[in-house]
Amino acid sequence: MKYINVGKERIRFDYVGSEEYEHVLCCLQCGYEFRVLLNRPSFSCSLCGNLNSIKEVSSFKVIGCIEPHRVSQTA
Ligand SMILES: [Zn+2]
Repeated sequence: MKYINVGKERIRFDYVGSEEYEHVLCCLQCGYEFRVLLNRPSFSCSLCGNLNSIKEVSSFKVIGCIEPHRVSQTA
């Protein structure tokens, strides 16, 4: 599975995780990438205003899921 660690976060690409986590979405109208919590009923692209319901994410592409990066070893 592809992922990158960014600070205390881990971004899993092409992955839809728990709705309690933020996800990175890409607006298919303008290409703008932004974060959104999937437990919201609806959301819109802050760049072009493209609006969509979370139940039918057709105007947006899910880039990945942002999970807290749990460090198993003490630093
Ligand atoms: Zn947009």
